[in-house]
Amino acid sequence: MKTKWLLTFPPELTGEPVTYTLIKNFNLKINILKASIDLNVSGNLLVLADGNKNEIDSALAWLGNTGVIVHPGDSQIVWNDALCVHCGACTAICPTKALSLDPSSWMVAFEGEKCLECGHCVPACPIGAISNNNGLHHA
Ligand code: SF4
Ligand code: SF4
Repeated sequence: MKTKWLLTFPPELTGEPVTYTLIKNFNLKINILKASIDLNVSGNLLVLADGNKNEIDSALAWLGNTGVIVHPGDSQIVWNDALCVHCGACTAICPTKALSLDPSSWMVAFEGEKCLECGHCVPACPIGAISNNNGLHHA
């Protein structure tokens, strides 16, 4: 199973090899989507973690014990399919192809799992079909 987490590190933990431990001790595949961490300053890491349920649950328990705060990272970007006119403007600006245009149907689709919450697509949409609910990132 894949799950997206926003990990918030308190200042005393910014130098800890947390992703290394998640990989080595919990057998997770970790894909770092976005990082803003400075030593001795609290930081955020948006990661996609892939593992079985036991591995995920064990890793979450360990993270909780270390003091790292885990926010469920389900995409807070909301793409309104009903409003979208499939112009493709957002797909040109999306760095991860979370918003993509099917070349055969010319229809746009959104895959939240690939989204790194950069927010760039929100102002790119001419009709306001995309919104950002998390308040953590701004375009
Ligand atoms: S927030 Fe960024 S990564 Fe996510 S869909 Fe929009 S442009 Fe793509
Ligand atoms: S920019 Fe807006 S209308 Fe155009 S494809 Fe993206 S979501 Fe749809």
